[in-house]
Amino acid sequence: MPIPRFISSAFHGCADIEGFDALAELALDLRSSWNHATDRIWRTLNPEHWELTHNPWVVLQTVSRQTLERLLASPDFRQEVEDLLQARRHASVLPSWFQNTYSHEALGTVAYFCMEFMLSEALPIYSGGLGNVAGDQLKAASDMGVPLIGIGLLYQQGYFRQFIDQYGRQQALFPYNDPGQLPIVPLRFADGEWVRIKVELPAYSVWLRAWEAQVGRVKLYLLDSNDAANVPVHRGITSDLYGGGHELRLQQEILLGIGGWRLLMALDIEPEICHLNEGHAAFAVLERAAQFMHTYALPFDAALDITRAGNLFTTHTAVAAGFDRFEPSLIRQYLTTYAEQTLGIPVESLLAMGRQTPEDPHEPFTTAYLAIRGSGAVNGVSRLHARVSRHLFAPLFPRWPIHEVPIGHVTNGIHMPSWDSVSADELWTNVCGHDRWHGAAEGIGEPIRQVPLARLWQLRLAASTTLVEYIRERLSRQLAASGSPHHAIEGAKRIFDPGTLTLGFARRFAEYKRPNLLLHDPERLFRLLNDSERPVQLVIAGKAHPADLTGQAMIQAWLRFIQHPDAVDRVVFLSDYDMQVAEQLVQGIDVWINTPRRPWEASGTSGMKVLVNGGLNLSVLDGWWAEAFSPEVGWAIGDGLEHENYAAWDAAEARDLYARLEREIIPEFYDRDESGIPCAWVSRMRESMATLTTQYSTNRSLREYVEKYYLSAATSLRHRVAECQCGAYQHGIRQDRPVLDVRRWAGVHFGASSAYTRDRQIRFEVEVYLGDIAVDAAQVELYAEGVASSEPEIIPMQCLRQLANAANGYVYQGVVETTRPKTDYTARVIPHHYGRAIPLENQNIVWQR
Ligand SMILES: *Cc1c(COP(=O)(O)O)cnc(C)c1O
Repeated sequence: MPIPRFISSAFHGCADIEGFDALAELALDLRSSWNHATDRIWRTLNPEHWELTHNPWVVLQTVSRQTLERLLASPDFRQEVEDLLQARRHASVLPSWFQNTYSHEALGTVAYFCMEFMLSEALPIYSGGLGNVAGDQLKAASDMGVPLIGIGLLYQQGYFRQFIDQYGRQQALFPYNDPGQLPIVPLRFADGEWVRIKVELPAYSVWLRAWEAQVGRVKLYLLDSNDAANVPVHRGITSDLYGGGHELRLQQEILLGIGGWRLLMALDIEPEICHLNEGHAAFAVLERAAQFMHTYALPFDAALDITRAGNLFTTHTAVAAGFDRFEPSLIRQYLTTYAEQTLGIPVESLLAMGRQTPEDPHEPFTTAYLAIRGSGAVNGVSRLHARVSRHLFAPLFPRWPIHEVPIGHVTNGIHMPSWDSVSADELWTNVCGHDRWHGAAEGIGEPIRQVPLARLWQLRLAASTTLVEYIRERLSRQLAASGSPHHAIEGAKRIFDPGTLTLGFARRFAEYKRPNLLLHDPERLFRLLNDSERPVQLVIAGKAHPADLTGQAMIQAWLRFIQHPDAVDRVVFLSDYDMQVAEQLVQGIDVWINTPRRPWEASGTSGMKVLVNGGLNLSVLDGWWAEAFSPEVGWAIGDGLEHENYAAWDAAEARDLYARLEREIIPEFYDRDESGIPCAWVSRMRESMATLTTQYSTNRSLREYVEKYYLSAATSLRHRVAECQCGAYQHGIRQDRPVLDVRRWAGVHFGASSAYTRDRQIRFEVEVYLGDIAVDAAQVELYAEGVASSEPEIIPMQCLRQLANAANGYVYQGVVETTRPKTDYTARVIPHHYGRAIPLENQNIVWQR
């Protein structure tokens, strides 16, 4: 679709020039952040602005009318633009992995909600890892043709920007994001009217303006509250990402969840899947149910029971303290009217959905609990994180064995084309083909094993040179800007050596990531850096949240360390870690270090970004590395366990970190053959590239989301909607629906039982009294804990006969082939509902003992 003239003309005085619309269409497509075909155009238009901003839309707006007229008058330039435009339009309709694998009817629209999206440094509405996962998911959906739409907020300031002053302190800056200069356009109805959405907050409604970002063939819709019709306190709600206190956060989450769903309705988009990426958007499940209940004239609980089948909740939190929690008074203040008038339920019922103990009036409201109670499936973001999450959410599933707490996992992946260097891209294209990132990427890394070591080493040497040039340029400017002495600025222009082993640590400075673990023994680090034969250089970057004083102190500790004469030439701290800095680092670092306190790093993604470029990982066995690590592909720190005594644990892992560097990593890097190649090192690189790159790509993770969750959620939702359309919910046939079920389970109990052992068989018989529960709404099974670390045994029991002397009593029988004693087995009754996720949708369980 060409950009309608009224959009571009709203921002630009050159919109009338013939050919401008084609440029605008290209400039507004964020595909340019990973497909670099159009770079040449922007460089031609304004090389300086292009280098500074990497924002084609800014380039287009700042170029003079004369230059534009001159270039667009040139037939060659016009042809190039036209060709790129055709290529873009062709790419956006080309059948891709999804179309080639599934029928069009298999899946409707997936609405992907997230508080932040990291797509390009030109659109700074992200903080870190969460936004990274969200942004890369949209990009992969574009490449693979998955029908997905992103929903987020447009922040006027976004996350803070970091400046390091001359005293080595972090200053937080909040530059204004001028929406006119961001690669987004106002979202308009067909008649040109700007789409605006109304959400009620206490006393006043908030008007939200809607914006659209184009991410290849995927759209991202953003909402912001800076509308002239709003009262001043509301205009700033969407100003900062992760700023302010609880009240602001609640306001933002209401706007994202409720406003986001209303936006889709206003656009006549009826998503099938609502994917909540983290609990921030949990209120969307309420609004989705509200829309449904009004369409079908149902009570709220029935509407939620139907629509939750289409909701997927991805949790990213690894500790209970990480969940968003709100005081009940705040929820009452903000959501009483909404609960009563829109949902038709008392606000106390809404509060109960966010509590571990629903009837406790003092317990705060946890959005992650609401998300669980409003979803048809839940997943964590690595295998270990799912295990941790099962413990975190276990209180919502009382009396269920921990391994049955219904949290699955999809380990995160990253969008490789966004993070590979130009030379890595060339190598991969030669070896693995041009369209390698358009499909499920299975096995495409294999041919990398055939690449000669010398070729891979050449890639690394080139990458090191590029990184060192970047660091010199950036660091010297950084020092000049903070008023550093002349000799320091000049020193920065010559710092580092492309032939030296380069270590990198870049991430948010949060305490659990232990960004100063390397500083544990400064003397040992000095020695390691300054070895005359085998020196090491180290790049550090990262921001600490403005309210996190511990994190800021850790930044200061690094900056003080760097002042030391033995560190000043060997260690740099690059300020304002953002997507662009990350890109440069992951492309040129030799060893990427990650030191979280297990199990706090739910997944971690930055280490995945070095894979495609031939960087290696040295990391604590946490998050993704706990499942990716093997000795052939990198190095592990620690023992892969959790520990209580932080001080002793930190000390032990710091020693392990130094020892790995001293004994394994540094020697391997400097152990060269006669042609100067570190063969063991490059073989390890090759193994890491070949086995891990595809496994930790979004191609794999998005495919898993489609195949493990989206397709089955769509089927389940359709089934429930069809039941509803037949009137099942309205006429009481679905009276057994789980939400109504809870109290009736009180009457379920066991009677006499017996067990006969013959040979290797045990035959169990047990009397079960189901009380108010229909016999086909219950399932009786035998359960035995797993031995050693194996899975538990669960054996369904059959109903043999009804008991003559009881209203709803039965004898159940189960036969087990086993050598285990019969006392290992216990009978239990759990709910049974067609197509329902148990225990996610119904937590009842009654044990024999
Ligand atoms: C990849 C990335 C992150 C996330 O890194 P983690 O290792 O998951 O902490 C954060 N910020 C930026 C700018 C990134 O590029």
